Amino acid sequence: MTLLFENCTVLPMTAERSEANCFTGWVGVEGRRIALVTAEASEAERWRKEHPDVRVVDGCGGVLMPGLVNTHCHMAMTLERSYADDMALMTWLNDCIWPFESHLTDDDIRTGALLGAAEMLLGGTTSVVDMYWSEEAVFDAVEESGMRALLCCSYLDSRLEAFDRDLPALLEKCAGSTRIRAGLAPHAAYTCSTENLRRGVAACERYDIPMTTHISETLDEQRIIGERYGMSPVACLDSLGLLNDRLIAAHCVHLSDDDRRILRERGVHVAHCPTSNMKISSGIAPIERLRTEGVNCTVGTDGPSSNNDLDMWEELRNASFLQKVATMDPCAVPAYELLRMATVNGAAAIGHAGELGVVREGALADLVLLDTRKPHWHPRHDVVANVAYCAKAADVTMVVVDGEPVVEEGRLLHADLPALFEKSETIVRRIAALR
Ligand SMILES: [Zn+2]
Repeated sequence: MTLLFENCTVLPMTAERSEANCFTGWVGVEGRRIALVTAEASEAERWRKEHPDVRVVDGCGGVLMPGLVNTHCHMAMTLERSYADDMALMTWLNDCIWPFESHLTDDDIRTGALLGAAEMLLGGTTSVVDMYWSEEAVFDAVEESGMRALLCCSYLDSRLEAFDRDLPALLEKCAGSTRIRAGLAPHAAYTCSTENLRRGVAACERYDIPMTTHISETLDEQRIIGERYGMSPVACLDSLGLLNDRLIAAHCVHLSDDDRRILRERGVHVAHCPTSNMKISSGIAPIERLRTEGVNCTVGTDGPSSNNDLDMWEELRNASFLQKVATMDPCAVPAYELLRMATVNGAAAIGHAGELGVVREGALADLVLLDTRKPHWHPRHDVVANVAYCAKAADVTMVVVDGEPVVEEGRLLHADLPALFEKSETIVRRIAALR
C-alpha cells in the first residue's frame, strides 16, 4: 500500500535532545517503510505524481508521530482486569492470579491477547513486549490484530513448558512473520532456580533471541533473594549471565548504586512500569538517575490486572510526574525525553534502533495520527508538551503498522469487538464457576 499523509504536524522524534524538530509537512509510506518525510509542498507534489495510486490521508492538522512501544505487558491478563485489586504482589500472585491462570486454555489466552491488542492499537501503541504462557497462542492474536510484537515465553520452576513446548512452537510461527519475533522470559529470580535461569541463558544463545524478566520489583523480592543468595536480584542475575544488551528488565524499582552501575555496564534496557508500581505499592524506580547515568529507560504498562488498563499516554504521564515527585525536581524526565522513552528508546530495547520509533525515510512505517481538534489540545504553545502531557488514547484516529492501516477513524480494521467482549465474558464466567 502507498499512503501520503498531508496537513499534519510531524513529530519525527529524530532530534537527540529537547529541541524537537516538529514541522508541518507530508509523510509518504511505500510498502513496509516510510519513503518520504518533507516540509516542502513541491517535494510532496512530485512524490504524489510518481505514485499515481497513492491514497492521500488528510491529517486535519493533527499530530503524526511514531507508534508507541510498550516494553512490558502480559496481554492475556485482560481476562483478569479488575479481578483482584488492592492487595500485595505476593498475595495477589499466589492467591488470585496463578490459580485463575491454571484454568486458562490456549484459546482463552488468544482471546485475552486479542482484547489487549485491540486496546493498545486503538490507543496508538504499535509494538509490545509480551511475557506469558502459551505465547504461540498470543502469536495468533497479534498476527490477526496487525500489531508488532516481541513475544517472550515465560517460565518458572513449577511451569517449564516454555523450553520444550511454547518456545519451539513460537519460533516456528515467527519464522514466517515480519512483525512478530520470539524471546524467552524467566518470570523472576525468586521464582526460578539458578539452574533454570542458566538454562534460559543457554536457550537464548542457542536460538539467538532476546530475554525479558522482572527484576527488583518489590522489597519482598529483595529480601527473598538476599536471604537465598546473599546479594541483590541484579547482582544475582548478573552472576548467572542474564544481564546484557538483549535483556529488557521490567520494574527495577529497588536498586543500589552498584545495581545501577551493573545495569549500565551490561547495556540492559529497563522497562519502567509506574502505574503497576504505584498500584501494588512496589515503590518508585530511580528512572531519572538511571536515565541520566546512561541506562536505556523505556515504558511498559505491565499487565492489565495491575494497572488496570493498557493506556501508554497515561503511563507516560505517570512516569514523568512520579519522577518529579520522587526527586522533588520538576525538571526530571522532561516532555521530550518522556516521549523518547516510549518511541526511540523502546525501539532500541526491542532490537529496532533507528528503524522504529522515528519518522524518517527508510524507517519501518509504524505511525500514529492524533486528532487535535479538541479543547485539551489548545492553545498549542508547545506541541511536544501537548503530546506528552495532554494526549489521550481516544485522540488516536489512525494507526499504521508495518505500512498497513490497522485503525481508521478511531476504529479497528481487524477485530469484531462485540464478539470479543462476549467471548471474554464467557471465559471468565466459566472460570468463576470452577473456583
Ligand atoms: Zn509483569
